[in-house]
Amino acid sequence: MGTTSPGPLRLLRESHEERVLTALRTQGPLTRAQLTTRTNLSRATLSSIVQTLLAKQAVTEAAAGGPTGEAVEVAAGRVRGRGRPVSLVGLNPAGGLAVGMDLGHRRIHVTVANVAHEIVASDGITCAERTPWARRVELAIGLVDELTARHQLSLASLAGLGVGVVGPVPPAGTSDRSALVRDELAARFGVPVFVDNNTRLAALAEATWGAGAGVESVLYLRLSYGVGGGLVLGGRLLAGAGGAAGELGHISVDRDGPRCSCGGRGCLEQYLSGLIDEYGGFEKLIQARDSMTTVATRIGEVLAAACNTVNPEAVVVGGEMTGAGEDLFDPLRAALREYTHTQVHRSLRVEQAALGYDAAARGGIALVLTTPPEEAEWRRTSCS
Ligand SMILES: [Zn+2]
Repeated sequence: MGTTSPGPLRLLRESHEERVLTALRTQGPLTRAQLTTRTNLSRATLSSIVQTLLAKQAVTEAAAGGPTGEAVEVAAGRVRGRGRPVSLVGLNPAGGLAVGMDLGHRRIHVTVANVAHEIVASDGITCAERTPWARRVELAIGLVDELTARHQLSLASLAGLGVGVVGPVPPAGTSDRSALVRDELAARFGVPVFVDNNTRLAALAEATWGAGAGVESVLYLRLSYGVGGGLVLGGRLLAGAGGAAGELGHISVDRDGPRCSCGGRGCLEQYLSGLIDEYGGFEKLIQARDSMTTVATRIGEVLAAACNTVNPEAVVVGGEMTGAGEDLFDPLRAALREYTHTQVHRSLRVEQAALGYDAAARGGIALVLTTPPEEAEWRRTSCS
């Protein structure tokens, strides 16, 4: 060691610090043991790096179930099954804020969190379904102003905005809708703005804060009037070549079925919306137990194919159809056991989504916090 020049050593130390900071930024507060695993550092090195970061006030350490209610929630998701109090290392909450927005069909939601993954403000308003996109952006900006005033937050250290919109969003953000949203918000806040489909953002939120917290790979399926999904691998939302990775609603379940708006035929989404019409609404379909068995089995078959492709640790199912409870989940789990490779279903958890109507806005925050700074810079220059 003594003969090594100080330059490379310092660089190595900085890269170790960076690894720890990245893990905390993307995954929220972690125990020292979790940090050791996630960063691949030895316990001794990790301990020394954490000591340095504590001295620089870049991170803080507090007992799990720490100072705020939100921290308790985060800790509960991360430190399961421990009998004794554990301390969590997290980014210094003063290190910056991220804003998440959901510009949904009938509701606009804004949530603000700090880099330590603590939610500091959240609220939503309803809007008419035909509200133009420029107007939705204005309403969302008004909501940000109101929340920052109400909670006395300063956006001087804003890291970025993550925004969920309805419909597909190509990766380069070339669609009119996402370009408009991005340009308006970037001009107003002067920070990187990330736009993605709101169901995909809900997937990222479930993997970060919800039913898939603490899990490396999550397949999310939303069963509502539309059917959507998202795939989170290693804590990051997979976009795919065309931004459509995880579009489970457009897997065909009837090769002779009607043509779908996506360009495919007989999609799962069409199959379900056909049944909802036939039964005269979601509630009635959910109450028809025999039909639910058939429907859930069909959904389970689609999920099984996706699970054999990805081998996720968790499948998280959300949306109004989960109101059917075990009438949905029992046959769905049975189909997954029946139609997946043993190696796949042996390690698979199937969970009901845990987050509510703010899921997509939370996902926007997670998108900001999980996007590496160099990508954020690239997006900033490419959209200015
Ligand atoms: Zn389709």
